[in-house]
Amino acid sequence: MHELSLCQSVVRSIEAAAGPHGFSRVRRVRLAIGAFAGVEPDAMRFGFDVATQGTLAEGATLEILELPGTAWCFDCNDTVTLAQRFDACPRCAGFRLRLTGGEELRIQDLEVD
Ligand SMILES: [Zn+2]
Repeated sequence: MHELSLCQSVVRSIEAAAGPHGFSRVRRVRLAIGAFAGVEPDAMRFGFDVATQGTLAEGATLEILELPGTAWCFDCNDTVTLAQRFDACPRCAGFRLRLTGGEELRIQDLEVD
């Protein structure tokens, strides 16, 4: 389950930030996860509970913001939303697309003490 190792690296980032930012407990973590990041939100929640045990984020609430997959369509000259990574443009059915969003996995913000 690669979500567990993702959660472990999230916890490491939080721990690395704790000193410089002067917090010792985390109450809430908001993760932004793109539609094409290849991450299952449910597996992420489970992994988070495991990965935070014994850390300053133990017992913290995990909130997941699911970001849509987006691409720039060179034919429509506009940003469009894709349901699947290799879909055609939903407007013109073309494939001259460049992915612009949906692969993100980042800590959006933390609520800390
Ligand atoms: Zn298009």
